[in-house]
Amino acid sequence: MRPNPSPPLRVGLTGGVGSGKSTVATLLARCGADVIDTDAISRRLTAPGGLAIDAIAQVFGHGYLTADGALNRPLMRTRVFANPDARHQLESILHPLIQRQALQQARLAQQAGSRCVVFEVPLLIESATWHHEVDQVLLVDCPVETQIKRVMERSQRDRPAILAMIAAQASREQRQQAADIILYNDGLSLDELAQQVQSIAVGFGLSSP
Ligand code: ADP
Repeated sequence: MRPNPSPPLRVGLTGGVGSGKSTVATLLARCGADVIDTDAISRRLTAPGGLAIDAIAQVFGHGYLTADGALNRPLMRTRVFANPDARHQLESILHPLIQRQALQQARLAQQAGSRCVVFEVPLLIESATWHHEVDQVLLVDCPVETQIKRVMERSQRDRPAILAMIAAQASREQRQQAADIILYNDGLSLDELAQQVQSIAVGFGLSSP
């Protein structure tokens, strides 16, 4: 592997649930970015045999695991929504592991000559450490009502459950204040969104697909 003389631009991609982060991540990948999906890392860490499983069992008990040894996500979701201390405990297990693996993936991307690494991090603004690891924060923003509508369309969750999820995350204003670039994703067709992502990608030193 040849050493990469100039390190890649490191972008933190964030936004509330349903804002369109994953859609934007896919579009950025099409423009040549190396996207690191921290949700996917989290799912691997909490799958059977995952690196976070032992710590979760120790802190929360084996009752929070499924029969095959994965994290019981619905049960844990209920627990952490009702209990902020439990949420912090879970995050203190998962977040350092997620970040370590994401940074390891970024090093591999750099060694392979990446020009731009995009970390897709839903809770980037809430984290005390992620902003040290990125050069720019790209926020996908939309009104709360749009978030609710999109999440209802793709899941079985009802409005109160979605509102509780949104309330447990940073507010729209907090995200806007922390962002370097804000991509307003409301009232845009997917083609229009793709065009906006393309011009942002050019600013990241990437070419059009
Ligand atoms: P997030 O990753 O932030 O939760 P997603 O990228 O999964 O959000 O988007 C949520 C839903 O909204 C998806 O079904 C996606 O296809 C849809 N969506 C996002 N942006 C647009 C858009 N501009 N036009 C139409 N649908 C969109």
